[in-house]
Amino acid sequence: MIHGEIHQNVRQYINGRWETSATTGVSANPSDTSEVVAEYARADRRQVESAIRAAADASSHWSHSTPQRRADVLDRIGTELLARKDELGLLLAREVGKTLPEAVAEAARAGQVFKFFAGEALRGGGENMASVRAGVQVDVTREPVGVAGLITPWNSPLAVPATKIAPALAHGNCVVFKPAELVPACGWTLAEIISRAALPAGVFNLVMGSGREAGQALVDSPLVDAVSFTGSARNGERILQAAAARRAKVQLEMGGKNALVVLADADIDHAVDCAVQGAYFSNGQRCTASSRLIVEAAVHDAFVARLRERLKALKIGHALERGVDIGPLVDEERLARSLAWVGIAREEGAEHVWGGEPLQRTTAGHYMSPALFLARPEHRIAREEIFGPLACVLRAADYDEALALCNDTPSGLSAGICTNSLKHAMHFRRHAEVGMTMVNLPTAGVDFHAPFGGRKGSGYGPREQGRHAAEFYTTVKTGYMLA
Ligand code: NAD
Repeated sequence: MIHGEIHQNVRQYINGRWETSATTGVSANPSDTSEVVAEYARADRRQVESAIRAAADASSHWSHSTPQRRADVLDRIGTELLARKDELGLLLAREVGKTLPEAVAEAARAGQVFKFFAGEALRGGGENMASVRAGVQVDVTREPVGVAGLITPWNSPLAVPATKIAPALAHGNCVVFKPAELVPACGWTLAEIISRAALPAGVFNLVMGSGREAGQALVDSPLVDAVSFTGSARNGERILQAAAARRAKVQLEMGGKNALVVLADADIDHAVDCAVQGAYFSNGQRCTASSRLIVEAAVHDAFVARLRERLKALKIGHALERGVDIGPLVDEERLARSLAWVGIAREEGAEHVWGGEPLQRTTAGHYMSPALFLARPEHRIAREEIFGPLACVLRAADYDEALALCNDTPSGLSAGICTNSLKHAMHFRRHAEVGMTMVNLPTAGVDFHAPFGGRKGSGYGPREQGRHAAEFYTTVKTGYMLA
């Protein structure tokens, strides 16, 4: 396998300048661990604080910039991302291990998100209300929140940051962006594109470093008015406590234990497709992955048999190899964790159907065969987020039991149903306790312009994406005037 370019000058972007740091780190290609993807500078607390100060200083000016100015900047960023989607997709595939088609699609999505928010910058507006008092006029307007601290995970290193940075800038906020440690090259490349989009110094800043130091500095700073975090529930909970204690605005997008319900009247081949895509593509390393497949008893055995055949036929390999369905897990630690879940499933007495083995390929990478178990609702594999290529099937006597199982979880991000019954589809859409429902679609895979987010333990604060993003990135002002 030919090695790709090493990103060597990956530095912080603070107040319009590129800055190095005292310590450095590397990211490696999970498909071939002998390949270094990036050598990058790791920000310390002082650098994060200086990025926050720069953003706070730029805020008074940028918050009054014209909608046209903001739209032009976002449009320029979106245009470049779309034009370079193949090259950026290649980088993403090398750094995270997503297959090339998935990675290119993610790069394009990031571009579409910026284009969408270029339009949103122009569509702002308020409301006029009749006052209850004679001669008084009332209007309601939205203003930027101020400085937004944006903390993102490694699994979608272009799309998730775009989903936060674009609305933050569109609505007139200044940004300090902290990508995950595993994906510095993706974070830096996005920042480099933004740095050439004619933004005033300090409006957008990049700090790369650990969650404990760089991330926590953002959460704790009194100058950061809003913290948007996507990541694990454990870290989200801590961030919520710390940020809410100082009355910052907080938005959390966290994990899920998403269910795909398959009813007896479903097209079984299509349901198997939905399960394979939703549970196993990207190795299940998606917050919307369907790690619980809840199947009505009448089709349970047929569904499991067909799913097993599909899993046997999947091609697991180097993310850049043509025809590969699933690449490697992102790093050694996540591979070990997923294999440990296979051990837990066996110890708990879940019935093994397929996979769950480490795989050797011609390059040294973090490969594993997709694992399928038959479980009971009390098993840990049916209750806890795994974030790896392991799904379990739960048997349900009928639709009512399937829905009850679907909702029997502290999470509430996405839930799907495969059925040809309009009645059950409509009932499910109304009664699944989640932020997003899917009928005859995989639980993973959403539009970029519609609200995204979850309920219960999966989310906190206003939704991301689309028009709804304004709820988080603006604050409402009510004006009264004697006419
Ligand atoms: P993670 O929680 O380990 O890290 C996410 C980010 O938070 C990283 O940038 C990390 O450095 C930072 N961080 C960690 N501790 C911090 C702290 N104390 N203060 C501030 N920042 C801190 O998550 P991960 O392993 O990168 O991502 C996987 C998780 O993300 C999964 O649970 C997955 O479900 C979730 N996720 C959710 C969504 C969603 O939209 N709901 C999307 C993608 C991933």
